[in-house]
Amino acid sequence: MTVFSTESFAGHEQVVFVSDDRVGLRAIIAIHSTRLGPALGGCRMYPYADEASALRDVLRLSRGMTFKAAAAGLGLGGGKSVILGDPRKSKTPELLRAMGVAVNRLGGRYITAEDVGTTVADFAWVRQNTRHVVGLPEELGGTGDPSPTTALGVYHGIVASVAHRLDRDLRGLTVAVQGLGNVGWNLCRLLAGAGARLTVSDVDAALARKACAEFDAQAVEPDEIYAVQADVFSPCAMGAVVNDRTLPQMKFRVIAGGANNQLAGDEHGRQLRDKEILYAPDFVINAGGLIRVASEHEGFNSTKVDSQVKAIGATLHRIFELAGRTGTPTQSAAMQLVQERLGGGNSGRSANNGNNSASNALAERVA
Ligand code: NAD
Repeated sequence: MTVFSTESFAGHEQVVFVSDDRVGLRAIIAIHSTRLGPALGGCRMYPYADEASALRDVLRLSRGMTFKAAAAGLGLGGGKSVILGDPRKSKTPELLRAMGVAVNRLGGRYITAEDVGTTVADFAWVRQNTRHVVGLPEELGGTGDPSPTTALGVYHGIVASVAHRLDRDLRGLTVAVQGLGNVGWNLCRLLAGAGARLTVSDVDAALARKACAEFDAQAVEPDEIYAVQADVFSPCAMGAVVNDRTLPQMKFRVIAGGANNQLAGDEHGRQLRDKEILYAPDFVINAGGLIRVASEHEGFNSTKVDSQVKAIGATLHRIFELAGRTGTPTQSAAMQLVQERLGGGNSGRSANNGNNSASNALAERVA
């Protein structure tokens, strides 16, 4: 297995391999950048096929966190950690406490949080050995579920995208929402409240039916959502939904949703530009949850969080203007903005976060 020459290693400040045989812990903590502040990113537990896959995953994800935090204007860097193992079989309080020791050794350069395969409740154990944890439940001094805040950021992002592309507000507009989970459901409530008409899909048919009743929405089968007649498409389920198969079906004017890594590849960003479909880059529009959990680090202030989440709309306006002026896809314009905020250098190679392929299978959560 290579480390320094692994794709995505570029720009990483520090990568720590953690082992504690006593409790069966094997983990990797990747700190991509602390240029803007301590590196914040979730701790994922997954039964990786091999060590190289775990390393690739943590490096891609930590780099993505640098971009997300910088785009949100936060005083934070990017990091991530992965625990190698099956969370259903080997996640024990002892293992989680040992992970807390490992995080603590970094002295606050890395701040951890819940991710795929870990839960907020797990972090009560991690927290016993380090205070460098965010995203805790309210009873442990945290701010609880970040999803409604992610949905609010996506809502502001949709308002900004529609204003830019269609020069109007949401009343009477049709929005196709894919995925009615924590983010999608909260988003539907906000959109319906603003007078938008909703077309929805979820692999869970009962959820789709519930949305029809609650939001007066129309439901379509999961695979039909790409071809529906709607002004806005809002992917809130999984990654890589803009791809060679779906893009030719799309007649939307705007794509703006909460899912991570929506573009299957950089070329799809270029194709969206050519089709004049305005794309709100995912790592910009879905940063609301990160903004919320990050605020725990400094002391939660709801007024400040609300204004930072609202600023997602203003950031998108800047990105759209830059993209329009330079003729670049919006995803590339977003990366230019990130580079500016990072003061140049120390970034990834791909305008598409380099996060797509392998990481899509493990849809990244908040941090
Ligand atoms: P979730 O698991 O609560 O909801 C996902 C929903 O999508 C589920 O209802 C599921 O049944 C549905 N779904 C799965 N495959 C589908 C398909 N093919 N078609 C239609 N529906 C499908 O997840 P969530 O927390 O709402 O997150 C949604 C997306 O947003 C994920 O990509 C996640 O990584 C991203 N995200 C979430 C947050 C957050 O705060 N929760 C923050 C940033 C990004």
